[in-house]
Amino acid sequence: MTVHYIYHSCFAVETETLLLVFDYSQDSADGRLRQLLDNRGERVLYFVVSHFHEDHYNPAILDIDGARRLISYDTVKRRRVPKEKVDAILRPDECYQDEHLTLHVMHSTDVGISSLVTLADGTTLYHAGDNNNWYFPEEPGEHIHCSLKEMEGLFLATVRSVAKLAPQVEHVMFPVDPRLGSEIIRGAFQWLWHVKTVHFYPMHCWDRWEEVHRAMAQLRENFPEVTFHV
Ligand SMILES: [Zn+2]
Repeated sequence: MTVHYIYHSCFAVETETLLLVFDYSQDSADGRLRQLLDNRGERVLYFVVSHFHEDHYNPAILDIDGARRLISYDTVKRRRVPKEKVDAILRPDECYQDEHLTLHVMHSTDVGISSLVTLADGTTLYHAGDNNNWYFPEEPGEHIHCSLKEMEGLFLATVRSVAKLAPQVEHVMFPVDPRLGSEIIRGAFQWLWHVKTVHFYPMHCWDRWEEVHRAMAQLRENFPEVTFHV
């Protein structure tokens, strides 16, 4: 199995039987997603959309033939996605299941949902969407509509609910967002503390890779058992 980073919060998970694309907004400059789509052969293609924001959803996915589209409730509503284009509407605490995967729809501290996926062979994946501890140390009111303490409580509740369902998650795609300044890894750190993680992939990085690399070095130091991909 290979987890391909595409762009921003978009990843394509490729196995022998499926190609599972999370939060497609745009392709990488070198067209990695295009290549994967062109070479997908018999693989079943999925698009999972965590929420309606432009950096997580591109309506172009509606025009791709043969795809199974699992789309969050807010996206369906706010982006007026025609019902016949949707294979499942994702709502928190619900579950989608077919012959290849089970997707537990988890909460997010931002809009929409996050996804805990178990593949047929038992491999587990988590894609956070915009779920993070949005702990903006300066002027939180500009970014969040609750206190920092409430934000942290909400976030930790989402993390505990994943830990309860999955004793271990093999592949975790999670925001490491430089806009959080000194708190860039607060959420990731708390995640790794509570959820046994094998592979960790940062996302939502706004191309500020220097800050992300520094943050990842800190995580590596604290969690030597985890493989970090950046
Ligand atoms: Zn976002």
